[in-house]
Amino acid sequence: MFQNLSDKLTDSFKKLRGKGVITEADIDATASEIRRALLDADVALPVVRQFVSAVKEKALGATVTQGLKPGQQVVRVVHDELVEILGGETRELHFAQRGPTIFMLAGLQGAGKTTLAGKLAKWMRSENKRVLLVAADLQRPNAVNQLQVMGQRAGVEVWAPEPGNGVGDPVQVARTGVNHAIENGFDLVIVDTAGRLGIDEEMMQQARNIREAINPHEVLFVLDAMVGQDAVQTSVAFRDGVGFTGVVLSKLDGDARGGAALSVRGVTGQPILFASTGEGLDDFERFHPDRMASRILD
Ligand code: GDP
Repeated sequence: MFQNLSDKLTDSFKKLRGKGVITEADIDATASEIRRALLDADVALPVVRQFVSAVKEKALGATVTQGLKPGQQVVRVVHDELVEILGGETRELHFAQRGPTIFMLAGLQGAGKTTLAGKLAKWMRSENKRVLLVAADLQRPNAVNQLQVMGQRAGVEVWAPEPGNGVGDPVQVARTGVNHAIENGFDLVIVDTAGRLGIDEEMMQQARNIREAINPHEVLFVLDAMVGQDAVQTSVAFRDGVGFTGVVLSKLDGDARGGAALSVRGVTGQPILFASTGEGLDDFERFHPDRMASRILD
């Protein structure tokens, strides 16, 4: 995960770590290397700028901490700034006080929504929660079937559009699915929605309508970490078009550069909640900014 970025940053710190005295020139040189590493990793330019200037300012102004060599001190500053752009504190998930919690998934086609539905379902089921998957992606002919397969793998029930459940109308499927969960004592409802290959106003409107109809506790925007700089534009389009409460980065296992995804918090203001790292149902984890920063720098 973020291996290239990690390697480059580690390289640029090698010279610095052992130094007894750090000059302004050392900091400038390190700052340029960090800048290059972040840009190479596809981190969005405004985020890079802000990052590098904060690092410079804080590294210059840092008072010497007991037991830390000056070089290590700069690394600490970079670590803290990385935690900051990744979102600071880990954000707790929003759960319902009473009745079922509703998670809605949004994102482009192929981002990894259906797979995430299976992952979340399996995870919550292991915590003894009753989970219902709702197939409100009626755009792709195979999407309902794919969610049913996920449901089987995770061992949870799937609400799919059959005659009487609101054939062809995703808003109706979502609404009846949530009602089914309320009436039958489910703890968590995960609503899968349609994506397109590109940003599309009709798809946004549909997702917005679903959101208004079911009022979810979390709208999780699933973002393929491999998409490079498009990540920024896509995230902003979903923020403005549908609105979301958290981000799930998917395909971090295949990371060539992946850094665009590191900008998503800075660009949209919404936290990254999960990292998805493979096709298997156990291949995902909660996203902790501090742990991720340490992983990138260690
Ligand atoms: P959706 O169209 O958003 O529902 O996307 P899918 O869940 O169908 O995922 C699209 C493809 O990406 C499928 O082949 C998944 O197996 C694959 N996929 C999903 N998440 C991950 C991940 O974290 N890592 C990898 N390597 N593949 C993933």
